[in-house]
Amino acid sequence: MRIRVPDYYGHFRCLAGACPHTCCEKWEVVIDQETAHLYAGVPGPLGEKLRAAMQVDGDGASCFPLAGGRCPFLDREGLCEIHRTLGPEATSLTCRAHPRFAEEYGPFREVSLCASCPAACDLLLGTDAPLTFLEQETAEPGTPGDPWLTGLLPLRDRMLRELADRTRPLRERMERLLLLAVEAQSLLDEDRAEALPALAADWTAPGYSIPAGPGIFPWALRTLAALESLEEDWRDILRRGEEASPVSAPEPLLERLGTYFSFRYLLKAVNDGDLLGRAQFCLLMVLTAERLAAVCGLEEAVRRLCCEIEHSEENLEALQMAFRNDADLSPAAFLCELRR
Ligand code: SF4
Repeated sequence: MRIRVPDYYGHFRCLAGACPHTCCEKWEVVIDQETAHLYAGVPGPLGEKLRAAMQVDGDGASCFPLAGGRCPFLDREGLCEIHRTLGPEATSLTCRAHPRFAEEYGPFREVSLCASCPAACDLLLGTDAPLTFLEQETAEPGTPGDPWLTGLLPLRDRMLRELADRTRPLRERMERLLLLAVEAQSLLDEDRAEALPALAADWTAPGYSIPAGPGIFPWALRTLAALESLEEDWRDILRRGEEASPVSAPEPLLERLGTYFSFRYLLKAVNDGDLLGRAQFCLLMVLTAERLAAVCGLEEAVRRLCCEIEHSEENLEALQMAFRNDADLSPAAFLCELRR
């Protein structure tokens, strides 16, 4: 099987006790069955504490509910008592995987490092260089992929190339990415996925007149504020983003951010055919991070945005729905925003 990762993937190191925003706070830790079974046999006081802490959540999964907003096994030094006492292999799959997100596509797997983690966010935004991806072949057997992958893969490559084309201003590149997504979506809707490779190879941007309208802000910030929220001050940050005077964030960093989201989300259209909604999502994240940079700085804006949105399936689905149904977040509204 081929494994594809961002070029900085191998440089990731967890900050452990030095982490300023540890993932052992705010999120309830889900315990996989194998780990729960292991905890059932741990002897002594730690075993008793593990079994007493483990509960079944509303979805029927075992978990450690938070105590005062923290994992009950996070000690005063910010270290994990389970990791320290029983070793990293005794922590749950969720803890061992974080901040990695893996997407399985059959013949290949793509793994990202979620920028909600400060160490991963530092790697993403720590350089101006174009973000590239590394590929490695492993002995693990792959499975046949969805037929749509044949068209979506070259299309995503073309979209990534559009975004990386530094001969154009970033907003023009984002506009081109969206226009390409609009055309590709028409083919998907007509059940003509076999035409996607030719579109990816031969596409030229269509001429169009700038749509009239206000763009996506401030409505996009209000849409985000209406979603499920992790931290109390998030809605306040979004509200302040409506009023703050924009600051200019470096284009190479916004490009890296757009590439990060495009890598992670565009190919997921293979599951439901919604490529355009995912392109809008990627652009929304970049434009919102840029907007919130005026409130808390670009890196913090990105970290908070990823915390609030990327870890919540409910929020991701709500946004996908909004892109389909809300005229204020339509492709035309995005094009208007990008031409401002
Ligand atoms: S958020 Fe990242 S750096 Fe911090 S403790 Fe978790 S994995 Fe480590």
